Amino acid sequence: MEYECAICGVEGMLVRSNNPEPLLPREQRVCSSCNAYVTATRVVLMTKAGNSASKGEFCDTLVNVLKMAYTLRGAHESLMELMMGNMEEDE
Ligand SMILES: [Zn+2]
Repeated sequence: MEYECAICGVEGMLVRSNNPEPLLPREQRVCSSCNAYVTATRVVLMTKAGNSASKGEFCDTLVNVLKMAYTLRGAHESLMELMMGNMEEDE
């Protein structure tokens, strides 16, 4: 069984995936790298215990920020590869 990370989109074996709650529903899975964000979210939410009304909103915002960051990072890496390719052609 394979899965696709719900944040960065990397594919891997389901047995090595992580439960993304409370950042995302349990049915979705995240890679070990993105699991750091899930852990960080749990810690932040623990320190804000009792403020459950804004928990969902906080998670939604955080997931959108992470997805955008990965998209930007992917675009940057593609650009760097393109530039490296052009430099090699010039030589
Ligand atoms: Zn991931």
